[in-house]
Amino acid sequence: MVLLEKALDAGAQLLRARVEKVTVRNGRVECVHVSEKGYHRSIPTHIFVNAAGPMLQKVSEIIGLELPIFHERHPKVSMRDTLGILPRHAPLLIWEDSQRLTWEDEDREILAGSKETQWLFNGLPSGVHVRPESGPESQNILFLWPYDLEPVKPTFPVPIPASYPEIALRELVTMLPDMKICLERMPKPVVVGGYYTKTKENRLLCGPLPIDGAYVLGALSGYGLMAASGAGELLAAELSGSTLPEYAPAFTLERYENPVYLKMLQDWSPTGQL
Ligand SMILES: Cc1cc2nc3c(=O)[nH]c(=O)nc-3n(C[C@H](O)[C@H](O)[C@H](O)COP(=O)(O)OP(=O)(O)OC[C@H]3O[C@@H](n4cnc5c(N)ncnc54)[C@H](O)[C@@H]3O)c2cc1C
Repeated sequence: MVLLEKALDAGAQLLRARVEKVTVRNGRVECVHVSEKGYHRSIPTHIFVNAAGPMLQKVSEIIGLELPIFHERHPKVSMRDTLGILPRHAPLLIWEDSQRLTWEDEDREILAGSKETQWLFNGLPSGVHVRPESGPESQNILFLWPYDLEPVKPTFPVPIPASYPEIALRELVTMLPDMKICLERMPKPVVVGGYYTKTKENRLLCGPLPIDGAYVLGALSGYGLMAASGAGELLAAELSGSTLPEYAPAFTLERYENPVYLKMLQDWSPTGQL
């Protein structure tokens, strides 16, 4: 918001509308067409930045390009910890061991008998996160467990299984055993979710696209709040013709055409992910 306010003070205009079409002539951006609630506007320009977050691919298709990205669904739960089990001064806690969930005998029998829920008894991934939300006077905690990272096509509202809060809470009990009491009578959870837009190696995309005047800034995965200022500064340098830092090529789409980079990706880890 600070940056937006500064941009507005410096003369930028904010237009709340959906990009519907981009006119490209002779391989060059010419005009961006936007609409909102029956209102249409065409903006002649030679620069178009696709920074559409989870809609990055969809907006990219408008200019006929496919980006090497995928999307994971990431829900999170906000719940009142009325018993103060998580101290308010606790830092962000992340459980890194794989684990098995514990169930009452009766539940186990039902869940193990169903094809849809059998996976709950396999070795499950690590990664439950929890932290206090807001200040010491609040009772809210935030937690999430990314147990289902199958790539999906983003749709809104984000479809989240009704069982998500309880399953994530069960994982949380491994790290904070006293939370078990909440399983008997779970405080009303508020579940929200979004998508991580990622490249294979989990490194963002920032720079020119193979159409003159088209740029991308996206695939900020689960670190976009932290990386946004740096990524924005990098793209601003590109657009304003400033000297680029030496690391700029590491974030361009073009990096995937560099055989040295592709070889490095193979060596990093089985998935090439940082
Ligand atoms: C549950 C969850 C927790 C997270 N926690 C953290 C965290 O703790 N720390 C952290 O650093 N990051 C976190 N992230 C990641 C972070 O939220 C994202 O990386 C970041 O928001 C991505 O920023 P973006 O600008 O690329 O996309 P967005 O913030 O999604 O912005 C994209 C914008 O493009 C607009 N748009 C889309 N299509 C069009 C169109 N056709 N025309 C016009 N506009 C369009 C959208 O309306 C939106 O305003 C979390 C993400 C999730 C889902």
